[in-house]
Amino acid sequence: MSAGDRVDRTWDRLRAALMPDYSPAAARMWFVLVALGAVVLPIDLWLLRDLDAGGWLQIAAGAGAAALMGLFPLRVPGTRNAFVAGEIFLFLLLLLQGPAAAALAAVIEAAVGSWRSSRRWTSRLFSPAVAALAMSSSAGIWQALTGGSELLAAPVLITSMVLMAALCFFINTQLVLGIQRCKQGLPYFQWSDLVSLFRWVGLAYGGSAVLATLLYLAYRSAGVMVLVAVLPVLVLLLVALHCYFLQQELAQHARQTAATASEQAARHLQALQASERRFHGAFTHAGVGMALLGFDGAVLQANPALRRLLGLAPDSALPARLHDLVHGSDQSGLNQKLALASGQGAAPFQLELRLRHQDGRALWVLAHGSVFTDPEQGQPCLILQVQDISARRQAEAGLQRLAFHDSLTGLPNRRQFNELLAGAVARCKADPSASFAVMYLDFDRFKLVNDSLGHNAGDELLVQLARRIHEKLRPSDIVARLGGDEFALLVPHLQDNRDALQLADRLLEAMRRPFSVAGRELVASVSIGITFSSLGYGTPEQMLRDADTAMYKAKSDGKARYALFDDSQHQEVSSRFRLEGELRVAIEEGQLDLAYQALLDLSSGEITGFEALLRWQHPQDGNISPAAIIPVAEETGLIAPLSDFVLQRACAQLALWHELFPGMAGLGISVNVSGHDITSRNFVERVSRVIAGAGIPASGLTLELTEEAVMTQIDSAVANLQALRALGVRLAVDDFGTGYSSLSRLAQLPIDSLKIDRAFIHQMTEGSDEAAVVQAVLQLGGALRKTVVAEGIETPAQAELLKRLGCQLGQGFHLGRPLSATEATAWLAERAAPPVQG
Ligand code: C2E
Ligand code: CA
Ligand code: CA
Repeated sequence: MSAGDRVDRTWDRLRAALMPDYSPAAARMWFVLVALGAVVLPIDLWLLRDLDAGGWLQIAAGAGAAALMGLFPLRVPGTRNAFVAGEIFLFLLLLLQGPAAAALAAVIEAAVGSWRSSRRWTSRLFSPAVAALAMSSSAGIWQALTGGSELLAAPVLITSMVLMAALCFFINTQLVLGIQRCKQGLPYFQWSDLVSLFRWVGLAYGGSAVLATLLYLAYRSAGVMVLVAVLPVLVLLLVALHCYFLQQELAQHARQTAATASEQAARHLQALQASERRFHGAFTHAGVGMALLGFDGAVLQANPALRRLLGLAPDSALPARLHDLVHGSDQSGLNQKLALASGQGAAPFQLELRLRHQDGRALWVLAHGSVFTDPEQGQPCLILQVQDISARRQAEAGLQRLAFHDSLTGLPNRRQFNELLAGAVARCKADPSASFAVMYLDFDRFKLVNDSLGHNAGDELLVQLARRIHEKLRPSDIVARLGGDEFALLVPHLQDNRDALQLADRLLEAMRRPFSVAGRELVASVSIGITFSSLGYGTPEQMLRDADTAMYKAKSDGKARYALFDDSQHQEVSSRFRLEGELRVAIEEGQLDLAYQALLDLSSGEITGFEALLRWQHPQDGNISPAAIIPVAEETGLIAPLSDFVLQRACAQLALWHELFPGMAGLGISVNVSGHDITSRNFVERVSRVIAGAGIPASGLTLELTEEAVMTQIDSAVANLQALRALGVRLAVDDFGTGYSSLSRLAQLPIDSLKIDRAFIHQMTEGSDEAAVVQAVLQLGGALRKTVVAEGIETPAQAELLKRLGCQLGQGFHLGRPLSATEATAWLAERAAPPVQG
């Protein structure tokens, strides 16, 4: 690296550290000018070496006055230009003491001024240097050309001073502007600067020069006292001028700010008015109902759409408070929202409520509220937007009805009842004193009505039944249709359980009046099961199940009554569960057996056959009646294997008897079958398989069906019955006279015989009603060509009377008790013709 490079680099580093805002060219120019100034100043001082004390005093006074004037720049109103009147004193010094004195004073004035106006050392050195150069050079040239002030005539002096001042100004401004341009990298000189600067400041320079010259001329003719008198006045005048200009400037500034402020205010007002107009336009023409509300619900304003929504005339008055329009049960919800909205920083809210329409109906609306500051009132209030949602609500209500109501009767359905019951059970758990009852109602033999009169009549009857139940209830009681002919009641607020029993009595009583359905009078009855919350239920299902169980009890006790589910019933239910399990085992393990009861020809006393009766010798409980077994088997699906067992055993027994007693080939066997069997699809197949398996003639088997089973399932059973008949099997209607036989249908059924229920035989005496019924059945049997059997004959008198009435066949304890297979075989052996010997 060469020495030159090293110098360059040191210089660059120095410049970057000391004058970071100066370009290299500007820095170079700065150093040159400051150096020149530093050379000129000592020269000036050397030129002043002979000056006396008075001269130094003048320099000090001139520099002081010039510096003082620096504090009061004269800013030209309306422009950004200002000039300092201090030049007057510098020019005066020039005329009195020559260029060196003026230059020295200019340096002092510039040093004081730049010290005050700038904190940068570059400026603090640069301004005095430039002042020294400008004044020394311009004043030096003036001195050289004119030869000094003393010799010149006034006009020449004035003109030359103006030119000198112009030169001084030019040099000064060019040096100052030049270094700034250099810093920004712009060309050093521009004509436009001169034009703009000479306009005001340049003229002021010229003026200063003229003034200074005039003062000098006055001094030259009148002595130093002129200066002593005039200079302070001049200073005061300049200061006053400064203050005046300043004030002017401030006043103008104030006027400007006032103007802009009022302009802004006017613009703001305009904008506000426009926004208000827009708001009112939107408010008035909005399709959605709107209202301005106070936080207490006061209606401040409402738009036409809201009035339309409420069915009001466009100019009609609205109530003072929104509450006067709101449905009673929605008011607390509204109050809650209003209270929340009045709090700080409340979020918008939304709620659905009912408003009172002009025509009196309730109108469902969605209300959306938000806090809003009314431009007119300036107070926060609520803006409420109201939308009609009644169509949606209606649809929802319709769906709700569909989901929770029975479409036929309009009553709550099972689903809703379960929900209501769950609520009641939960309340009762929390507060056991809130006791209630549940009733299960079942129409007795409803199926019969449906089958004989048609489904429309059945529906009609259900509707009337529902109405009658409803009439008997208190307002708080709830009745629901669970399905089919089953109804359930929830009876809350019970003071005493007997209240529920009284209600049940009222219901049974209400059913006694006949119903008029499809132009006919029908007598109907219901069976009611009742249970009470006081039994301590955990779930609604348990409670409904127990009421159902009690209802079955009412049915088996003879129907058209009520029964209670109590502890003993609990036991009955549990023992029934036990029975179910044991019956399964009994069938599988062959614990079941049959008894045989003879059927006799009443006039000849001859045996025509046996009826097979189910027997179950229970290991612990002893004999269990078939009447207890059959319903359990029917409910649990055990009836099919049970019937198969009875059929097989009975047919096998008959086959054995036919083999043992060939002379009794006409001997038959009767088997009881249940309603479930005769509607079961494979029943005919099962029967024919058993007959074939036993090897007996089909006519040897008679199937006994109870009247109720036949009549309630007549449609589904008739095909099976015909098929059985076609097979050759005989069919008998059991317990005849207790059911609801429609005689016209009975004639069409493929029936061979009717068994008069033993209740008639039991009550029958000569000339009694029962005897008349028996006689009528015998006549009917004769007309329909059906054999009539009398069962339950317990006395010789009954047998005698039946014989006289023309009854052919009989059965009963008097004629023969149910016997075991062995006993029956022995009995047959006694009566059979002795075997033909070898
Ligand atoms: P049912 O078909 O009317 O049978 C006659 C019932 O009356 C038998 O009762 C019998 O013991 C009884 N009985 C017979 N003669 C007299 C009498 O003179 N006086 C009185 N008071 N009763 C008499 P059991 O055996 O208890 O049967 C009751 C019912 O159970 C039967 O009534 C029948 O409907 C049903 N049943 C019996 N066995 C079967 C079976 O294997 N299958 C089906 N599905 N039902 C059966
Ligand atoms: Ca029978
Ligand atoms: Ca019977």
